[in-house]
Amino acid sequence: MHIFQVGAGSGGMAVLDLVVRDPRVTRVTLVEPDTYAPHNVYRHLFPPSGVGRLKAELATEWVRSVRPDVAFHALVADITDPVRQAEFARLVSECDLGICAADNEAAKFAFDALMRAAGKPWTLGEVLSGGIGGWVHRFVAGGPCYGCVASHLQREVVEHPAGPPPDYSDPNAAHAQATVPASKASISVIAGLHALVSLEMLGQEGPTPPAPEEPTPNPSLKGGEPDLRSSDASGASEEASRVFTPLPSGMGAGGVGPSPDFTSLLFSLQAVPGVFEAAYRPHRLRIARARHCLTCGAPVPAPTGDALDAAVDDALARLGAR
Ligand SMILES: [Zn+2]
Repeated sequence: MHIFQVGAGSGGMAVLDLVVRDPRVTRVTLVEPDTYAPHNVYRHLFPPSGVGRLKAELATEWVRSVRPDVAFHALVADITDPVRQAEFARLVSECDLGICAADNEAAKFAFDALMRAAGKPWTLGEVLSGGIGGWVHRFVAGGPCYGCVASHLQREVVEHPAGPPPDYSDPNAAHAQATVPASKASISVIAGLHALVSLEMLGQEGPTPPAPEEPTPNPSLKGGEPDLRSSDASGASEEASRVFTPLPSGMGAGGVGPSPDFTSLLFSLQAVPGVFEAAYRPHRLRIARARHCLTCGAPVPAPTGDALDAAVDDALARLGAR
């Protein structure tokens, strides 16, 4: 299996370290433009002696040390670089799964575009500012794109300023003024979840049908706790059965199992007034594909013929011309 990953920061490298140990992984392509900086050291797998070197080089050495048999190819490149899109597209067309551990929105949208064009499944991990929790999102061909998910979540977060921006986990990321670096422990938990979800998707045969276009439970962060207590309660027995019911052999994490019942998994790591009522609580969101998503949606068709006449009449009526 061939993994195409973007990002070897503190989160991305932790995910890569876990995923590459799976014997099904035989090839990895990593895209990472950055140099290892002194402020990266205290929460990164790379040693202090690596400061000043390219993360792509350090990642190559790391992977060779744990999986010398894996064909590892690191590109010192920015995933948004327009000059290299054809090269990225060719590599993505050869991959089985994409793993996005980018720390900025432009890179996430660029990754989404590449994966969607090739029809490949992919995952995205995001640690929330301060390490209070994190997201793991899973994307499949025909399902919601990153634009669908981002617009669905941003609505809630924008309405409630206490909702922190994601950070995976660069203190100089897009939302610098609101971003507090996460601890290595927090990053490791979310990276572990990200790796598990990624490995589970590796085991799936063929694309998963897209989520139905229906209203999802509102994950609004308004009014304090993200109003997920009811879904927690209803999900509790299901959760328990998933944990305690023995699965047929070959199923479950890392095996060929049924697809999880979420597109986005939010996991709290701290109780934070106005955001998370309790620590260590999962919130599963099933986000539908947005019909008129600016990223993946079909444009609203222009009316023609009778429909056009009716639209013109309608518009003139609203202007008071008739
Ligand atoms: Zn979309």
